[in-house]
Amino acid sequence: MAAVQRLLRAAASSSSSGAAAATGTRRMTGFAGAESRGRRPAQDRNVQWVFLGCPGVGKGTYASRLSRLLAVPHIATGDLVRDELASTGPLAAQLKEIVNQGKLVSDEIIISLLSKRLKKGEEKGESGFILDGFPRTVNQAEILDGVTDIDMVVNLKLREDIIVQKCLGRRICGQCGKNFNLACIDVKAENGLPPIYMSPLLPPKNCMSKLKTRDDDTDEVVRNRLRIYNEMSQPVEDFYQKQGKVLEFDLPGGIPESWPKLLQVLNLEDQEELKLATA
Ligand code: AMP
Repeated sequence: MAAVQRLLRAAASSSSSGAAAATGTRRMTGFAGAESRGRRPAQDRNVQWVFLGCPGVGKGTYASRLSRLLAVPHIATGDLVRDELASTGPLAAQLKEIVNQGKLVSDEIIISLLSKRLKKGEEKGESGFILDGFPRTVNQAEILDGVTDIDMVVNLKLREDIIVQKCLGRRICGQCGKNFNLACIDVKAENGLPPIYMSPLLPPKNCMSKLKTRDDDTDEVVRNRLRIYNEMSQPVEDFYQKQGKVLEFDLPGGIPESWPKLLQVLNLEDQEELKLATA
C-alpha cells in the first residue's frame, strides 16, 4: 500500500520528540501533500471507510461486524493507544495521563501508531480498512486525505444522554478482551423523539468475575470526551460533508434493530446472506 509509505514518511517527518509531541494538537504542515501518485481506483481495491460518531456510540461494534463481512481490517486508534498504554514503551506514562482525562493524544503520536499498524497489516497482505476513532481532528482528516482516498464515512448518531449511560455500562473482560455492556437502555418517547430500547450485552459466566471498566469511562471523563468530540471532531463531520461522503445513520436501538438497518442502507444485505449461506 503506497499510502502506508506516505503516512510513515509523514509521521517521521512531522514528529519531533515523542515526549514533546504528546500534548496539544499542533498543526502539521508540509505533510505528505496532496500526492495522488499510487492511489488505486476504488473499484480495484477493498473498501476504505471511516466511522465517525461520539465516544461510546457503537463505532467499534458496527465497524468490527462490517470488517468481518467485507474481509477488511477494523482499525481502532483507541485500541492502538490502549495497546501502547499496556506496554512498557516510553510513551505509556504520558499517554495514560492524557487518555484518563479524556483528552486527545497529539496528531503526531496517533499518526505514528496508525502508520505502524497499517505497515504491519501490509506485511500480512491486508488491504482496505475500516477506520474507527480516526480522524478525530480536521488536521488528521486533511493528512489522511493527503495520503489516500476515503470512499465513505459512516456517521453514527445517538442521543447524548443514552451515550453517557452506554459508556458507564461498558465493561471489558480482563482475560479474553471481549467487550460487554451492563446498561439496559429503555427510554420512552418524548418531545417528538422515538423510544429507544437497547438490551444489555451480558458476559458469559466465566467472564463475569474478570470484568473491568475502562479508566476513561467514568461519568466525569465521559462528559469531557463528549465535550472534546463536539469541539474537535464535529468539524471532521463537516469536512467530509463538504466532500459528499457522509452516510448519516441514526441508531434505532440495539444491535438486533440497528444491524439489519445498517446493512440495508449500505446495500449489503445480499453480502450478509451470502456469508451466512457459505458459513
Ligand atoms: P476511543 O477508544 O476511540 O474512545 O479512544 C480512547 C482514547 O485514545 C481517546 O480518548 C484519546 O485519548 C485517544 N485517541 C484515540 N484515537 C485518537 C485520535 N484519532 N486522535 C487523538 N487521540 C485519540
